Amino acid sequence: MNPFTRIPAASIASLGERRVIAAIRGWLGPASPRSPFGLGDDCAVVPQSKGLQLVTVDPVIYGQHFDDDVSPAAAGAKLFKRNLSDIAAMGGIPRVAVVALAIDPSVSIRWLELFYRGIARVSRTYGVPIVGGDLAQISGGIAATLTLLGAASPRNQRILTRSGARAGDWICVTGSLGGSRRSHHWRFTPRLQEGEWLAGRPEVVAMMDVSDGLAKDLCLLTPPGAIARINPREIPLSRAACLASRSSGRSPMAHALGDGEDYELAFVIRNTTDFPAFSAAWKRKFPRVCLSQIGRFFKRSLVSSVPADWIDAESYGGFEHLKPVLRDRQRRP
Ligand SMILES: [Mg+2]
Repeated sequence: MNPFTRIPAASIASLGERRVIAAIRGWLGPASPRSPFGLGDDCAVVPQSKGLQLVTVDPVIYGQHFDDDVSPAAAGAKLFKRNLSDIAAMGGIPRVAVVALAIDPSVSIRWLELFYRGIARVSRTYGVPIVGGDLAQISGGIAATLTLLGAASPRNQRILTRSGARAGDWICVTGSLGGSRRSHHWRFTPRLQEGEWLAGRPEVVAMMDVSDGLAKDLCLLTPPGAIARINPREIPLSRAACLASRSSGRSPMAHALGDGEDYELAFVIRNTTDFPAFSAAWKRKFPRVCLSQIGRFFKRSLVSSVPADWIDAESYGGFEHLKPVLRDRQRRP
């Protein structure tokens, strides 16, 4: 759905700021608690949680993260879920969120309503209230930014970062990879339960979510003095990666490693891990989400010990955020 309208009475400009904010409260409904714990005061009041706190922020921008092919509800849901995925990536649990919106006055009321209903739905699904926000005017676009607060799991207070890996450790990934941007980049499920479970396992020593493509993201998990190498037979190619490859001329593997927006978890387990036992425990807990042991970190000096057919994921590239922008491009290539 195109967000903009030429009919003045259908645009948010016709409502004015105060009535737009009142409407947003209505669309959020029970997803936003009463002031001072929700919208309506200068700040939201959030009861303190015990232990470690997490904060993350991510936007969705019209033309970058969604376009007219994505429904407004799905764009709102994507905004929320990509932040939930970042909390999942640390093994945390999400608590409350605020939404800052910079928007052109010619956006239709209907579009904005559906966008917030999408946010409200995710809020209810994951039990994370919207406790505040901001509305600002820009010309010619929509940029919505959600800030999400979370906490370490009360069960173990353990947080996983990107930096716990050592040479010799194994690389694993949840779900399947590739083709997301063509088919399901707004429909993914943030791996919150999986992330919390993984943070509770002592074998798991580092984790992140795959947002820019495994090829690029894997570098962030690689310890100093080591290289990451992938066993191509173990990469869980998604159906979408195979479909995308038919029209793109790139291999399914290139899609799986380079596309980005998979929002799966990539994590590292110690080289001493009994993988069959670990995998069996995973299957009991998450029978519908596949788990793959896809590669390993090797000491740079021991590069000769890498199996001959294993590959360097980095050579497949990944999504680059700060590349030069073509003038009227509204979609990613
Ligand atoms: Mg992330």
